[in-house]
Amino acid sequence: MAFQLDPAYSDLQDEATALARAVEPLAVEADAMSEVHAGVHRALVDSGLTRVMVPAAYGGRDERLDPLAIAVVREVLMATSSHLDSLFALQGIGSFAITAGGTEEQKRRWLPSVASGETLAALALTEPDVGSDLKALGTELVPSGDGFVLRGRKAFISNAGAAAFYSTLAREGDGFSVVLVPADRDGVRVTPTPELIAPHVLGDVEFDDVVITDEDRLGAPGQGFSLVLGTLGVFRISVAGASLGLAQAALEAATRHATTRVLNGKPMIRLGEVAAMLADSWAELSASRLLTYSAGERAREDPEASLPYSSMAKLHASEMAGRVVDRAVQVSGRFGLVRDHKIERLYRQARAMRIYEGASEALRPGIARELAKVVG
Ligand SMILES: Cc1cc2nc3c(=O)[nH]c(=O)nc-3n(C[C@H](O)[C@H](O)[C@H](O)COP(=O)(O)OP(=O)(O)OC[C@H]3O[C@@H](n4cnc5c(N)ncnc54)[C@H](O)[C@@H]3O)c2cc1C
Repeated sequence: MAFQLDPAYSDLQDEATALARAVEPLAVEADAMSEVHAGVHRALVDSGLTRVMVPAAYGGRDERLDPLAIAVVREVLMATSSHLDSLFALQGIGSFAITAGGTEEQKRRWLPSVASGETLAALALTEPDVGSDLKALGTELVPSGDGFVLRGRKAFISNAGAAAFYSTLAREGDGFSVVLVPADRDGVRVTPTPELIAPHVLGDVEFDDVVITDEDRLGAPGQGFSLVLGTLGVFRISVAGASLGLAQAALEAATRHATTRVLNGKPMIRLGEVAAMLADSWAELSASRLLTYSAGERAREDPEASLPYSSMAKLHASEMAGRVVDRAVQVSGRFGLVRDHKIERLYRQARAMRIYEGASEALRPGIARELAKVVG
């Protein structure tokens, strides 16, 4: 629909489409699960698509990460299954700090199995009392003997309980650092998070004086925020990509309904207000797609520096997806309200996108600061 991506991405889209088709029969079941669906995970590993999350030197696909490629894959996967999309996305979200800040040894130890998809990754930022305002976080690296212990609790962590490691942001003195905590290390405990309106593999992770050595650090002491900003620079664009896929699926389902259902003696798409809802949705989706793809291209060079543009794409696309799926429910009438109807599922899944990886209201101040700089 509307925008033609550079042909260089067609193979990737075809591969993602083949994976989505293979997973489609499992989608309703998998999207209702709060644990990893083994069949979906296997299909993802077999597809080899997780290799886009890691540089070629460590088993990945391209010389370096391509944020647009990741967004393009998420766009396809999310249209079929949020569970599949999350499993794919987390491989990059959880491992980016290793790629960007890890030592050669850490990269060789962890990245090949992340690239193959066999080892699941996680990023632990959020805490029970801290979400958007990460500078308030309480998890700390406390000096102990020759090294440190990690003390604190993370909440709402995707892949908790399934991941092999947690890339974890912690306070260290006056700054913040990221450490890689293997999931099987003494003192790491996972407890379930309450189930969400659209289930998700989530848990809380407690670090009870977990022993941390310098070999566990990702990047230098105090470099934690820079690694997190780099992660967000790449992966906010991918949330935008997933939002496009969700909106596309909702718009297609609503359009099919509107062209086949007869109201007042004619297909309902010929009723002015219905046509307007669908037309607005298509226009908004097409605009978001342009913004997302251009942010993807920009972020390839420097994800951290292009963060305001990644944030803009995420803001625009997630808000757009919310409106498009809401209209899709409206156009579908009672049918779109039935549990596990495609549109009902998308409606529930869309909601979190405006909250995680930067709530819309938390993104706007950073975008406005960039605007002030650009205007001068
Ligand atoms: C499905 C799902 C998966 C998640 N996975 C992970 C994960 O893997 N790792 C992880 O670390 N976290 C994860 N999270 C947590 C997520 O990152 C947080 O929910 C998010 O950062 C927002 O934090 P909060 O929910 O505490 O909201 P709060 O920070 O309490 O914000 C509440 C609301 O306040 C408003 N607000 C926030 N900041 C501002 C501001 N500056 N100006 C004006 N208004 C503002 C917004 O409307 C916001 O929605 C996940 C969450 C969900 C729902």
